[in-house]
Amino acid sequence: MGIVVQKYGGSSLADADAIKRVARRIVEVKKAGHDVVVAVSAMGDTTDELLDLAAGVSPLPPAREMDMLLTAGERISMALVAMAISDLGYTARSFTGSQAGVITDAVHGKAKIIDVTPGRIRDAIGEGHVVIVAGFQGVSADTKEITTLGRGGTDTTAVALAAALEADVCEIYTDVDGVFTADPRIVPAARKLDRVSYEEMLELAACGAKILHLRCVEYGRRYGIPIHVRSSFSQLTGTWVVDDPTEGGTMEQAIIAGVAHDRSEAKITVVGVPDKVGEAARIFEALAEAQINLDMIVQNISAAATSLTDISFTLPRTDGQTAMTALARIQGEVGYEKLLYDDKIGKISLIGAGMRSHPGITAKFFASLAAAGVNIEMISTSEIRISVVVDEKDVDEAVKATHTAFDLDAEEIEAVVYGGTGR
Ligand code: ADP
Ligand code: ASP
Ligand code: MG
Repeated sequence: MGIVVQKYGGSSLADADAIKRVARRIVEVKKAGHDVVVAVSAMGDTTDELLDLAAGVSPLPPAREMDMLLTAGERISMALVAMAISDLGYTARSFTGSQAGVITDAVHGKAKIIDVTPGRIRDAIGEGHVVIVAGFQGVSADTKEITTLGRGGTDTTAVALAAALEADVCEIYTDVDGVFTADPRIVPAARKLDRVSYEEMLELAACGAKILHLRCVEYGRRYGIPIHVRSSFSQLTGTWVVDDPTEGGTMEQAIIAGVAHDRSEAKITVVGVPDKVGEAARIFEALAEAQINLDMIVQNISAAATSLTDISFTLPRTDGQTAMTALARIQGEVGYEKLLYDDKIGKISLIGAGMRSHPGITAKFFASLAAAGVNIEMISTSEIRISVVVDEKDVDEAVKATHTAFDLDAEEIEAVVYGGTGR
């Protein structure tokens, strides 16, 4: 029988008992005759705790050392899971990302997987072992340095392994029963999606629905790996992320797949930029050189009297310091007046492939925010998404109001949050 690739998140590996429970689940699959390869995350909130520790030591730690620190979290869980499996009478071999052949580019903290060479994994499978791989990490082909894939990256490790090993499916085990129409921690009436398209899942993930890492969905789509998101605390069928969710069924494509929110971004405003050709290019070149991924960008029309304009954009909060430093360096060259930094923002996104053919979605979205008394600071759209930036304190209210306005609330509460701290 084929290879089964599974991923267990930190909330499923919170303590010794949880690790033993996961080990029993893995052994069940092995007993059923499958070869099993498992990607594991760091236990509980370990990654956040390591980040706190680093912040206590240095305000801007070197990216290389940050990766050396953070990868330790996944090394701890891989060894413990392997031990728990051997305790059940089966043998397991744990491997770091580098040992498992996860090859990345050289960008610390958000490396991209460029290849997976799973020779050692195949050998271990051939010898009858269960294989446990430390998620969220790899090794750079160029620099030979250890890298991490960005927060939530173990999902991507799992799908990349599934693709390299030609597995039929990749199972992502977490602390909720699947992908819901909104984060069940905010909207208890959220509904589980039985199936969702890669396209919509990409937008949900990109807009902060941290149930799946964005690159994992990109990888799944590129290699045609169906992703089954489900709970490690229940036996329920979860959500299938597939090419065409309506295929073979009677299901009609819903207009709205869900509402996502994101509290991980910050907003920078470059005030008083001279309104001349090339100024915006210089600003965004400086940010690109600093390896910063931007999200929304807004440039105001310049005031006629001064010919000065303001440019605002959003970016990951974790890149805030780096971006401010990079921009400060070019102040003389660009001649802008000052920089403003705001990390008390949140982003709410409404996502659905049905938006393409249904007018009036934007109007209804904005009306629901207005009725909830939520002020909109920035807006951006794609074919199947509308996003707004709001005050961070309004995020929960805005998500709930939108969910209700689009009739997404379940009549009976079905969402269960089994574990995790929501951190
Ligand atoms: P893991 O530790 O398993 O990787 P994460 O905390 O990364 O778990 O992701 C699971 C969490 O994602 C859930 O507990 C939930 O709070 C959150 N979440 C956000 N949006 C959604 C959504 N649309 N559907 C389900 N869960 C969501
Ligand atoms: N441990 C890492 C994180 O917390 C990776 C992961 O959980 O997927 O982001
Ligand atoms: Mg995760």
